Amino acid sequence: MGIWPVFIVNDDPKRLTFTVAVDEKRELNFSDGFQVQDDVTDVRRRYATAAVLVRLHQRTFREKVLHAYRHACALCRLKHDSLLDAAHIIPDAEDAGEPLVSNGMSLCKLHHAAFDQYILGISPDFIVEIRTDILNETDGPMLKYGLQQMHGVRMQLPRREKDKPNRDALAERFQRFKSA
Ligand SMILES: [Zn+2]
Repeated sequence: MGIWPVFIVNDDPKRLTFTVAVDEKRELNFSDGFQVQDDVTDVRRRYATAAVLVRLHQRTFREKVLHAYRHACALCRLKHDSLLDAAHIIPDAEDAGEPLVSNGMSLCKLHHAAFDQYILGISPDFIVEIRTDILNETDGPMLKYGLQQMHGVRMQLPRREKDKPNRDALAERFQRFKSA
């Protein structure tokens, strides 16, 4: 632990981030999830290191989503936090992509990537659909059990109504899956 002068040089309430400047990069000791950027500002040139604390909401979002889904993948029920992501239904970068649990799903790494790549879609009725060409492929157990057997499965839902995936968001995303 150390105490040293820190200056808030910029903040961005919309993204829940702010920028602080400190005088020595080596004194930075932020926990993971934060990134340190070298960035000399005109305002504080002698404070040569600016640390940008990025996306604080992401951590909360991840924690909330994983909790809502009882720390399991909504599709395959894998229960290892280190292999789970809080996937956005409407991507984070877009305005509608609010960090609400109802815009998220707990997905394992495979299913998150497959969802993002439109290899799998989830209907507004929470049914998993696998892309046709993937269904027709022949390959090993990851394809067979990890993807093909997910076809037609109903995703696991959070208990609380307000945590359940927003059906409008799912419908919009499902439309993109269908037209991808
Ligand atoms: Zn999974």
